[in-house]
Amino acid sequence: MEMCETVRKMTQYEWELSSESIAERYGIPLERVIRFDMNTSPFKPEFSFKGVELNEYPDPSYANLRKLLSEYAGVPSDRIVVGAGADEILSVIARVFLEKGDRAVISTPTYPMFRVVIEGSGGIACEVQREDDFSLDEDALISQMKERKAKLVFICNPNNPTGNFSELKSIEKIAMGVNACVVVDEAYFEFCGRSSAKLLKKYENIVVIRTFSKAFSLAGARIGYSLSSECIAEAMNRVRMPSSVSSLSVFLAEEFLKNKNRMERNVARIVAERKRLAEQLRRLGLEVFPSNANFLLVRFKSAEYVFEKLIERGIVARKFSSDRLKDCLRFTVRNREENSLLLRDLGGVLDE
Ligand code: PMP
Repeated sequence: MEMCETVRKMTQYEWELSSESIAERYGIPLERVIRFDMNTSPFKPEFSFKGVELNEYPDPSYANLRKLLSEYAGVPSDRIVVGAGADEILSVIARVFLEKGDRAVISTPTYPMFRVVIEGSGGIACEVQREDDFSLDEDALISQMKERKAKLVFICNPNNPTGNFSELKSIEKIAMGVNACVVVDEAYFEFCGRSSAKLLKKYENIVVIRTFSKAFSLAGARIGYSLSSECIAEAMNRVRMPSSVSSLSVFLAEEFLKNKNRMERNVARIVAERKRLAEQLRRLGLEVFPSNANFLLVRFKSAEYVFEKLIERGIVARKFSSDRLKDCLRFTVRNREENSLLLRDLGGVLDE
């Protein structure tokens, strides 16, 4: 595994100490720490939220959030990097590994942002098609990686938009078979409960990416994080912006991690609804792909027609332009009431 030359030459950015760590180090109360070093305003804004201090910068290392994430994910906090959504983390990784013209492999159909971050870093995306049931073709991935001297491979697990989960032995086979970084995007981890984080102890080249946008109901707050080896985390810290996650978002993520029960209840509700919705859609005579995430991929005779008829009724599905998925639509599993509306309207459209 080789990071790009530019990043290897970059000097480590020295984070400013957070007020909390200064208070702790020098044994003084937190409220006695006054920031004359940050060029911020001494005046507190008129509006705030739950006492979050908005006139000062957040701790750029997000130490407290990383501590809570460490307990949640079972990975030491110095191997965790926090960013403004999983998308920012994806772009940070692309910048760590890709120089202009470097290759990165994606296993399609998959999350379109992988290509965007690869090309945004000057890299070239090489597609390896998934099997007919959308499982990974590990041998083809490994041989493409070797042939193209790829620096990076992106695997979405469970995969968006197909919903299937690749067993950890597939991920392990790839991590073992390539001398490159293996990014496992686990944005939908909580809906399946199985994670490649287990493999981090054994493989230095794996990076697991997660988000608060799905199971934690915080898409608007923009918080994501990665779990990796220390050396990858250290390189990511050189490249990332120091305070891209706002204090409000950090506060929300911390609160939600301290009260995980609510998220867990919601995940259980979505998983139950996923089963009900899939059954009902199959009763309408549709092909529904098995899903480990919070969405279902469904095949139609004419996806374009169904998409148009649904959107006229205010029901917005996700459609696709790629050949392999052009007869499919993806539906997020929402609450019981909303899913029932989808079933009613879809039933109406199919009967027309
Ligand atoms: N990865 C995958 C696989 C996703 O589906 C999404 C959201 N659509 C993201 C990452 C982006 O997550 P975030 O909102 O944390 O940027």
